[in-house]
Amino acid sequence: MNNISVAIDGPSGAGKSTLARAIAAKHKFIYVDTGAIYRTVGLAAQYAKVDSKDKEGIIAILPDVKIEMRYDDEGVQRMFLGGKDVSAEIRTPLSSIYASDVSAIPEVRSFLMDMQRDMAKKYSVIMDGRDIGTVVLPNADVKIFLTAEAKARAQRRFLELQQKGIPTPFEEVLRDIEYRDAQDSSRAAAPLKAADDAVLLDNTSLSFDESVEMANRIIKEKTGI
Ligand code: C5P
Repeated sequence: MNNISVAIDGPSGAGKSTLARAIAAKHKFIYVDTGAIYRTVGLAAQYAKVDSKDKEGIIAILPDVKIEMRYDDEGVQRMFLGGKDVSAEIRTPLSSIYASDVSAIPEVRSFLMDMQRDMAKKYSVIMDGRDIGTVVLPNADVKIFLTAEAKARAQRRFLELQQKGIPTPFEEVLRDIEYRDAQDSSRAAAPLKAADDAVLLDNTSLSFDESVEMANRIIKEKTGI
């Protein structure tokens, strides 16, 4: 059977990664978290002390940025920068801002393109991001645009950060979400938008289980699995 690819795009905090993990587990797909790849480039900029708004500076460090994506025994994606596991470090609020800033640079996006497409060539994947259905995998078998109101997304991210031991004031989390929404949607390079053939899934008032059920129904309709 050919590899199947499922693209999930949507704004920050919509729950793409938790949903994608659940679907990957059910169908034995590889879950590719593309945000983590942009976060790793952002971290490389922080290490190199290059401001995330310094476009030329970011482009200049790219040839030295050695990113690897590896999967552990449980199938969890881990990010390596120059051989070092940075999977936890890329999750801080500062790394979110850096990721959003560097991802607006077209050279950064093309630098990371092959890495993402190669995964879909080799495996059946569920890949989440902002431009998977529109740019990275325009021929994906299934495209879902997952969204929710900004306050609901901020509340979920707030709890998630607390659980991870990175307590952050709610106002700061909401500001971060709104900053990234505005920037991700308005940038010229691969802006966040639903593909014409994506199915819209708004989970503002859905429980997690209901979101999974809806997504699985969409996948079944499109692929028969
Ligand atoms: O999904 P996550 O919040 O980890 O992504 C971090 C940032 O990386 C996003 O705010 C977005 O700017 C950028 N990103 C992107 N394209 C993707 C995935 C993430 O521009 N496919």
